[in-house]
Amino acid sequence: MTLRTAIGVDLGGSHVSAAVVSEDGTIHGQHEVDLEDLSFSAVSAILTSTIELALRDPDAKEVVGIGIGSPGNVEPRSGAVLYSPNFKWTNAPLGETLRAHFDMPVFVGNDARCATLGEFTYGMGRGTRNFVLLTLGTGIGGGIVADGDLILGNRFGAGEVGHHQIRPTDGFICSCGKVGCFEAQASGTGLIRHAFAVAPSFPRSTLLDMDRDKLGSKKIRKMAQAGDLHALAAWKNFTADLSIGLANVIAFVNPEVIALGGGVSSAADFMLDAVRGRVDELTTMVPRGTTRIVVAQLGNDAGLVGAATMAFRGGLTTLGS
Ligand SMILES: [Zn+2]
Repeated sequence: MTLRTAIGVDLGGSHVSAAVVSEDGTIHGQHEVDLEDLSFSAVSAILTSTIELALRDPDAKEVVGIGIGSPGNVEPRSGAVLYSPNFKWTNAPLGETLRAHFDMPVFVGNDARCATLGEFTYGMGRGTRNFVLLTLGTGIGGGIVADGDLILGNRFGAGEVGHHQIRPTDGFICSCGKVGCFEAQASGTGLIRHAFAVAPSFPRSTLLDMDRDKLGSKKIRKMAQAGDLHALAAWKNFTADLSIGLANVIAFVNPEVIALGGGVSSAADFMLDAVRGRVDELTTMVPRGTTRIVVAQLGNDAGLVGAATMAFRGGLTTLGS
């Protein structure tokens, strides 16, 4: 029997990638195209041509539809991108534009919600009914599955846990303008900020001896794992803040599993040992130790696979929205 397939599309801030995905979660040939012009018409044209490439793939059999994960606030029924700070779009009719080109169902969802659906269906969320994905990268993206369904919220903003404040009085300034948001403190960027914040205590440290815009969280992670005292001090503050946010998430939605994705999570065991104990200390009304905190399985593919999953399911949720 031939498995059904769908076209999964990951629309990022700098590139589009599209692939045929089988219903068992297998990704076939992937087509990736860089984005230079971020205007809606230019991005729609690149999306259309990249999807056409994927549809010409020999594996594109029994294609049930096209799913696109897009940054920003997305209205999932029409597929309109209501607001996207990355692209500076408001009310961009992405779903409608692509439906005019393709003779099959087209679904558009927020990229982080798509990634959550992908990880829930094919990754660490399999077999659970209450699941959270948090991607720790430049920011913190995520999504929440409660009682087997993704939560979209009243205006499709549920899951934006990166912007709950954990240090409103002494934290770093967030990209959103608030102080001490979870993502300002506990994303990859947050780790770099912690390294700068503790630098005065380590006058002989060479950890930060490179251009600030070239410094990634990876160097700090590696140095912490190698026992560098400056990196370890930054890491300790970072994991303390990460633990506060994770304990809050547990209090909000009591998930069975929280999967951590993004670059920072590659320091898996090193990170999780410190985090799990602290999260338990901060967990009060939910039975301690009952949320498994793990590293996400699908990595960068979660968004693309999740977008295809949305096409298989007929929407991000079982209600078809
Ligand atoms: Zn914020």
